[in-house]
Amino acid sequence: MPSDPLDILKRVFGFQSFRPLQEEIVARILDGQDAFVLMPTGGGKSLCFQLPALLRQGVGIVVSPLISLMKDQVDALRASGVRAAYYNSSLGQKAARQVLAELHAGQLDLLYIAPERLMSPGFLERLRDMDVALIAIDEAHCISQWGHDFRPEYTQLGVLRRSFPGVPLVALTATADVQTRQDILSRLELDDDDCFVTSFDRPNIRYTVLEKHQPARQLMKFLAGHGSEAGIVYALSRKRVEEVAKKLCDAGLSAAAYHAGLGDGERQRVQDEFLRDELQIVVATVAFGMGIDKSNVRFVVHYDLPKNIEGYYQETGRAGRDGLAAEALLLFGYGDIALCRGLIEKGHNEEQNRIELHKLNAMASFAEALTCRRQVLLGYFGEHATEDCGNCDICLQPPETYDATEDARKALSCVYRVGQRFGAGHVIDVLRGTRNERMLRLGHDRLSTYGIGADVSRDAWGSLVRQLVHRGYLYQDVGNYSVLRLTEKARPLLRGEITLQLAKPRIKVKAVKKPSSR
Ligand code: ADP
Ligand code: ZN
Repeated sequence: MPSDPLDILKRVFGFQSFRPLQEEIVARILDGQDAFVLMPTGGGKSLCFQLPALLRQGVGIVVSPLISLMKDQVDALRASGVRAAYYNSSLGQKAARQVLAELHAGQLDLLYIAPERLMSPGFLERLRDMDVALIAIDEAHCISQWGHDFRPEYTQLGVLRRSFPGVPLVALTATADVQTRQDILSRLELDDDDCFVTSFDRPNIRYTVLEKHQPARQLMKFLAGHGSEAGIVYALSRKRVEEVAKKLCDAGLSAAAYHAGLGDGERQRVQDEFLRDELQIVVATVAFGMGIDKSNVRFVVHYDLPKNIEGYYQETGRAGRDGLAAEALLLFGYGDIALCRGLIEKGHNEEQNRIELHKLNAMASFAEALTCRRQVLLGYFGEHATEDCGNCDICLQPPETYDATEDARKALSCVYRVGQRFGAGHVIDVLRGTRNERMLRLGHDRLSTYGIGADVSRDAWGSLVRQLVHRGYLYQDVGNYSVLRLTEKARPLLRGEITLQLAKPRIKVKAVKKPSSR
């Protein structure tokens, strides 16, 4: 019996080589240690626990919140000759008994299980009496309140590390946000040495943002360029989903609506048909897509503005999982910002609302960016690309530029003069010499930069400041009232040692009003 990971990779999974970090993660687990895997959707997370489960003694336990995904994964594994099963509420009594019998007889390599089943009375005791190869926690961000998909039944999983000493614990997620990541690590008692993080770049996805004016027509025009290719159109509300789906159907396209208000049967039907390539376009709320493994989705359209970059990234990431060229189109309208803002403010937790408004602001600023979209997107997740990607609307059709050196210096010195303790709104007020109560109270009307930019419009200043942020001359502290600070890069510009070309604003955006600021 050969026991070499590469051999199993080829023989069982039919792949010729490992994807980035897979080999290292597998080796670590085979070594009996834990792992935290942060990889974008489609990065190949499953293999990281499936493969070592085959090489280690005993059954690999896989916790997953997604019942539909479990079945698909188990079916695929069985087709490759792996002894896999799932145990969740969708099983009848007889089938459930059968699975447990196989488990006890040591006939399973992998058992997929819903969290509440795993943590139900007696189940952990059962496991303690048998060989467990590893415990994998898929969609691990569900354990964190910071994540965007918190699930109470996941919190109990925190006991697993202690309950099974010596059994490798593997937590996997595609959610990149720093706070969530820390939270997962601490709840599952993992440490920094356990972390494996791959790049979040999806070079085959072309990002495009269009100013939204006649969305239905803009969508039709876009679809006309995609023949019968498969795609997803995301809209904000159920009502909008229904409307758009109807329009597409009326136009003779193969499209269907998907949202949480539809019956289980209908949703299952839409999903199955889409997976089987019998349905071309799904128009959906964000309820659609989690855990759907369809590799040939050629486009994702956001008909409305997503509430945050995490969501946008995750949803667009469903395109092009086969690595072939794919498109992500965002229709961006001013009204959407207000709409999202309204939705967020319905929330009752003030602190949470504040976080979400800042995230919305970052989303709007991505949409309005005049720098490479990919740079903005990756920068948001803490990954800094230095070169333009050549595969986004900004790179492909660069906006007109102008010599912004003087304006940039004015803005930077103004940020400095207000003590690097204020957000863009106030900095622009100072530049434009706005007279209001706050200005006078702070004495900022006496600053040397007060009113030095009165000849430039508010929108133009806004665009300039955003570009300075995207290009790394200013740092915008999203966790702290979006306060602007200078970076090292700002120095030579301030000292007049370099000049700066910036893009002329192409679209105008009203910034999201903050609930509170200093
Ligand atoms: P994730 O869970 O990170 O979203 P998956 O585990 O579903 O990703 O893998 C995404 C796709 O990549 C699957 O179709 C899988 O079969 C494929 N894949 C995974 N690892 C490899 C590899 N080493 N070589 C080729 N394809 C791979
Ligand atoms: Zn680009």
